[in-house]
Amino acid sequence: MKLLVTGGAGYVGSVCAARLVETGHEVVVLDDLSTGHADAVPEGARLIAEDIDDVIGPVLAEGFDGVLHFAAKSLVGESQQAPAKYWQGNVVTSLRLLDAMREHGTPRLVFSSTAATYGEPDQVPIVETAPTRPTNTYGATKLAIDHAITGYATAHGLAAVSLRYFNVAGAYGRYGERHAVETHLIPIVLQVASGTREKVAMYGDDYPTDDGTCVRDYIHVVDLADAHLKALANATGGEHRIYNLGNGFGFSVKQVIEACREVTGHPVPAEVSPRRSGDPAVLVASAERARTELGWKPERVDLAGIVRDAWEFTQSRSQEA
Ligand code: UDP
Repeated sequence: MKLLVTGGAGYVGSVCAARLVETGHEVVVLDDLSTGHADAVPEGARLIAEDIDDVIGPVLAEGFDGVLHFAAKSLVGESQQAPAKYWQGNVVTSLRLLDAMREHGTPRLVFSSTAATYGEPDQVPIVETAPTRPTNTYGATKLAIDHAITGYATAHGLAAVSLRYFNVAGAYGRYGERHAVETHLIPIVLQVASGTREKVAMYGDDYPTDDGTCVRDYIHVVDLADAHLKALANATGGEHRIYNLGNGFGFSVKQVIEACREVTGHPVPAEVSPRRSGDPAVLVASAERARTELGWKPERVDLAGIVRDAWEFTQSRSQEA
């Protein structure tokens, strides 16, 4: 298929673009490089380094079989401070994309959604029919886009799949997490291990969990990318399907730090800090629907293995720097 990958110079987007190229698809990456990196675009993919808002019509006029839409603003904390950036950058831009797809007859969409659409869950593991009550602007904008996609699928026959990611981690060779402002736990711990940060702050140890720290479902970015390939193949005209993507296992902040210590051999000093606002105690996915309907099965569920891949990536970057 000829595919447009928005945000294909970012973390998840670049891994997906690489897997798409490897599996024989023709890939065009559209990324304004505001947070992505041109050298993360895989060989064999064409990069258009422009803003979606400026060029999406003419780009889609070339003719595409589908779009994988990763481009987004994705920092929860920033979304609380600067909501306009998120409503504009996520919702308005995605509506432009949907309209351009309709205008140019682009038949398929795979959308990068998030567990943040659910907010504080009543029950874990979280199923797709759980109530959606986002607790931050980031999650609210992603949920708004999901609603818009449903409307376009129903009214205009779009074949659409939204994938709600839990905590994406790990790396795929030279494709990994390279954020200018790092907020995620595993890369932060690995910064400590590589000597670029002194210690890690554990945000709260008085949650109602076994060791008092928050529990999350860490999914390997390659398993996540493979779900995108399956979603693309299974997308059906006139339907908008939604799938949670996680391993179904929860690990606490303390367990993650311990796994990083074991993998890196670094003592990783950690200290308890106040809770981070808006953090639910436990977020674990039920990905049963993705397993049964897409035939997806995560292969890289071992936390140490996920951390090891991220660590190899971190080390290779620091050698280059
Ligand atoms: N966390 C932490 N210290 C950090 C970064 C994150 O204790 O420096 C915790 C955070 O409160 C959450 C978990 O680690 O419970 C995962 O956070 P992350 O930002 O990686 O992903 P999120 O679950 O927010 O999507």
